Amino acid sequence: MVSYKELGLVNTREMFAKAIKGGYAIPAFNFNNMEQLQAIIKAAAETKSPVILQVSKGARNYANQTLLRYMAQGAVEYAKELGWEKPQIVLHLDHGDSFELCKSCVDFGFSSVMIDASALPYEENIALTKKVVEYAHQFDVTVEAELGVLAGVEDEVSSAVSHYTKPEEVVDFATRTGCDSLAISIGTSHGAYKFTPEQCTRDPKTGKLVPPPLAFDVLDAIMEQLPGFPIVLHGSSSVPQEYVDIINHFGGKLPDAVGIPEEQLRKASESAVCKINIDSDSRLAFTAAVRKVLAEKPGEFDPRKYCGVARDYMEDLYKHKIIDVLGSDGKA
Ligand SMILES: [Zn+2]
Repeated sequence: MVSYKELGLVNTREMFAKAIKGGYAIPAFNFNNMEQLQAIIKAAAETKSPVILQVSKGARNYANQTLLRYMAQGAVEYAKELGWEKPQIVLHLDHGDSFELCKSCVDFGFSSVMIDASALPYEENIALTKKVVEYAHQFDVTVEAELGVLAGVEDEVSSAVSHYTKPEEVVDFATRTGCDSLAISIGTSHGAYKFTPEQCTRDPKTGKLVPPPLAFDVLDAIMEQLPGFPIVLHGSSSVPQEYVDIINHFGGKLPDAVGIPEEQLRKASESAVCKINIDSDSRLAFTAAVRKVLAEKPGEFDPRKYCGVARDYMEDLYKHKIIDVLGSDGKA
């Protein structure tokens, strides 16, 4: 048993309370490798933004859960080296799907876990979430739960259709489970293809796809039911056109990739939405950099030369999200 407190990590409780009061949101960035983690920590340290490091099922399969945990521990020390005296870093399990997995993360030094039982019937979601909360809270680890179903594909989490969270269920759910935050479905979606062209309209000037707006009426109704309760948005990448263009220019093929417009996420950040998950955008930044370097320098065979550029691209992206979209800079 290792406590996250010994590792210099923090849970989400105080961070979320401050974010709701201050009208900003905390970035939750997924990481799978060293370059991504370096870019996240540099961006957070230099902007003095609290940050949530997320480990998904795909990341655990790719990089090994044990290794990722030690990398997060190293990230705290790296942040201090960068001059961030008291790093506000959360290590969070993204989309935990069983009690056993959540327990193993709590026991191993994670400061926050998500139990995603949203695909189960309502009463089973409550029972499983409650079980995780009761265990995690003994060690002051915070728990994110989910109500409603997001569309899209994210590692092993996928659904063809979305079901908006029902505002009439949230008080009962939050009260009976004791969860610390709630991921809701209001039209965000996992992956780089969040919407089919049929779901979008076309901007007559640019010809680009414009996605349907988020259901702010559902968010408002949820906030009315649960005033001041921390709300989480998954699937909130914006799929920046500049990266898609670079990828397509240098031999990639990402036709009609569509994300959530940043002005909608900025608006959400000002509400009780206090955690916004961004994964696909950093994948796009990484891929754009690698494609560009390898296309322009076909003789290059040192991975540091293209992964290093990818790291720079991701750092710029993370800083942009922190400063221009979530408003979490200067808050840690
Ligand atoms: Zn998610």
